[in-house]
Amino acid sequence: MQLSPEDERFRERLRRWLADNLTGRFAALRGTGGPGREHEAHAERLAWNRHLAAAGWTGLGWPAEHGGAGATLAQQVIFHEEYARSGAPTRVGYLGEELLGPTLIAFGTPEQQRRFLPAIKAVDELWCQGYSEPGAGSDLAAVATTAALDGGEWVITGQKTWTSLAHVADWCFLLARTKAGSRRGEGLSYLLVPMRQSGITVRPIRQLTGTSEFNEVFFDGARTRRDLVVGAPGDGWRVAMGTLSFERGVATLGQQIGFERELGRLVEEARRTGAAADPVLRDRLARAWIGLAAMRAHALDTLEAGPGAAGPEVTSTAPSVLKVLWSRWHQELGELAMEVLGAPSMVARGAPYDLDDWQRLFLFSRADTIYGGSDEIQRNIIAGRALGLPRQDRP
Ligand SMILES: Cc1cc2nc3c(=O)[nH]c(=O)nc-3n(C[C@H](O)[C@H](O)[C@H](O)COP(=O)(O)OP(=O)(O)OC[C@H]3O[C@@H](n4cnc5c(N)ncnc54)[C@H](O)[C@@H]3O)c2cc1C
Repeated sequence: MQLSPEDERFRERLRRWLADNLTGRFAALRGTGGPGREHEAHAERLAWNRHLAAAGWTGLGWPAEHGGAGATLAQQVIFHEEYARSGAPTRVGYLGEELLGPTLIAFGTPEQQRRFLPAIKAVDELWCQGYSEPGAGSDLAAVATTAALDGGEWVITGQKTWTSLAHVADWCFLLARTKAGSRRGEGLSYLLVPMRQSGITVRPIRQLTGTSEFNEVFFDGARTRRDLVVGAPGDGWRVAMGTLSFERGVATLGQQIGFERELGRLVEEARRTGAAADPVLRDRLARAWIGLAAMRAHALDTLEAGPGAAGPEVTSTAPSVLKVLWSRWHQELGELAMEVLGAPSMVARGAPYDLDDWQRLFLFSRADTIYGGSDEIQRNIIAGRALGLPRQDRP
């Protein structure tokens, strides 16, 4: 990626700011949060995220007329890379900032934009994503939660599941069926619903890692105002797909810096344990490094090409290719870590279930090939769009 002198100045300013501010009470937050670690230091990370916002480092890619910094693509990439490199904690407001914010900018009314964007940018309100249900995951169009108008309000009934961070969220953006008897993507609406009300029950789901980052969420006559529907009522599928298209953007470059750090630490462990002398493990470590380099090249290429520039078949499958690459890569890193560490990796370091970073990585990365669209679904997309294979019949 070609960087201008202005981009380099941006990088310097950000680096200096992170070095100067990840100090004092924030110093201990380095490395906290993120997949498998969302339970860590929530209140402190919220304070950090607000501090970041007050200094103007949130909403970077949003256009200036919506309160954003209007940063270039290169600057957004720099932000995510430098942020990850500094070890700064995972931002607690990322679902609002990266998913709902761009969705409201693209599809929201001016009133919705004025009401919600400033609070997302300032991290005053936290959001969760209410798409999946017990009977609607990969097959999201099977959403069965309903919402019906009662005077000036929608009344919502149903169940969402796997809802990340619902236990700390103030609001939920969710898909509900607002046209009685409608099927599949028709008749769905995209609603903004306040979480703190008596019609909503949040029940944590305990994960393999022993922690609970996601939840079951029950809507039993929950209410939201009539005007808090994004896009027209019944047009929720289009809006929901818009949100998904924002899900795998520039942040992926920051994620890769995190992977690079994990691989670097694993190489150190391999030296320490003597595993580095094992020809098979050396080979796998080298392959992991190559995989990371290929992933980075692919991500930069497709980001730079932008929509349409590399041809429709490339751009429409690029996010799927990247998802399959990184999720498998990360799972294999977890498996490799267990082998590098040998027998001690089988034992929790303390009672009752105190996992170290490698055990947590190994266990949590099982989810990598599921969330954000499972690998099977991504390969179906690639089979259809890139290879032109016939559609699979739905059972
Ligand atoms: C850590 C984590 C966080 C999550 N956070 C959220 C969140 O915040 N909000 C939210 O709404 N959801 C969230 N999810 C849910 C996630 O989007 C779903 O788990 C995912 O879409 C898969 O749906 P499912 O779990 O219902 O599995 P299913 O759709 O039941 O799939 C089960 C298995 O069948 C395979 N399969 C399904 N259909 C096909 C097909 N047509 N062809 C081939 N194979 C198929 C799948 O690949 C999978 O292996 C999260 C999930 C995880 C793991």
